[in-house]
Amino acid sequence: MNKGNGAIYRVGLLAIVILLPVLFTACPKNDLPPRPRGGMSTSPRPAPTKPIPIVAFNGTRAMDHVKKQIDFGPRPPDTPELAKTRAYIADELKSYGLKVSFDEFVAVTPQGEKKMANIIGEIPGETNTLILLTSHYDTKYYKDMQFVGANDPAASVATLLEIGRVLSKGSNEKPKVTYRLLFFDGEEAFCEGWSECENPNGPDNTYGSRHYVSVLREKDELKNTAALILLDLMGYNKLELGRDSLSTRWLQDIIWQTGRELGHTKIFVDREEGVGGDDHEPFLRAGVPAVDLIQLNSYPHWHKADDTIDKVSAQSMKIVGDTVLASLPKIAAKVTQKEPKE
Ligand SMILES: [Zn+2]
Repeated sequence: MNKGNGAIYRVGLLAIVILLPVLFTACPKNDLPPRPRGGMSTSPRPAPTKPIPIVAFNGTRAMDHVKKQIDFGPRPPDTPELAKTRAYIADELKSYGLKVSFDEFVAVTPQGEKKMANIIGEIPGETNTLILLTSHYDTKYYKDMQFVGANDPAASVATLLEIGRVLSKGSNEKPKVTYRLLFFDGEEAFCEGWSECENPNGPDNTYGSRHYVSVLREKDELKNTAALILLDLMGYNKLELGRDSLSTRWLQDIIWQTGRELGHTKIFVDREEGVGGDDHEPFLRAGVPAVDLIQLNSYPHWHKADDTIDKVSAQSMKIVGDTVLASLPKIAAKVTQKEPKE
């Protein structure tokens, strides 16, 4: 620095002060500048009791994830397009610093044997009590329709990825429980109707979630699995979430109440949402409390060629993402308390 050049120095300093906020706000992938990690602190202030969140749910990022999935084309199980989607999801999770694994299996479907793989990313907690955060990532097979599934399921995959990023980067403290992100393969039926093809091998849907319940059972992890949150069809730009009647009431209540506390009273409504089964059902049958966040009956583009990106909004994904993230500590507190669960 040249001390003899005070005016230039002041102008330079002014430019930095003006430009700094511009530089940070101009970067859509970062909500806040990164917090310095580790090292020695010269600050005399005591450490804050609550960690300052450094990463927030970013709707623009979620929208990017929706676009990327749609760009792959229709993504039914055992296709190159779904393999690309799987690699994309896995790479994203790895970029958040998460350990990624695959639960690979062969499902017998009305179209014969299909190779499938659930994707698993884990945020380790202080305990091995598990809360599962889930979505399916396959699109429904249609012989004669270009079905890209912007809301079903690209938006829920995108929201789950953003939730994963916030959970892995949002705090330097370990969570109380372990959060496991699960992206299920083969939720959709191969037949036109969801339960049209009855066969001796089981229903023609929820292949991935049913398989994963058997994995938890084999690994003796079912007893640690305290709750499951399922995202499915929750990115509509006219979002309104009714209550799925199969879902576990206390878990649903925590999320609905949290959403309303965040001001989303018109989103988390009390009307019943008749769903008739989804990826949470095999877990409910196995005794795992589970909730489905889904807008099925008032989504007119469901399983239609016009389930396209213009139906999905960054804001809707953020509302659901923020609500789930704000609900998690309450759910974790509930499932780790000593009293018996309701
Ligand atoms: Zn569907």
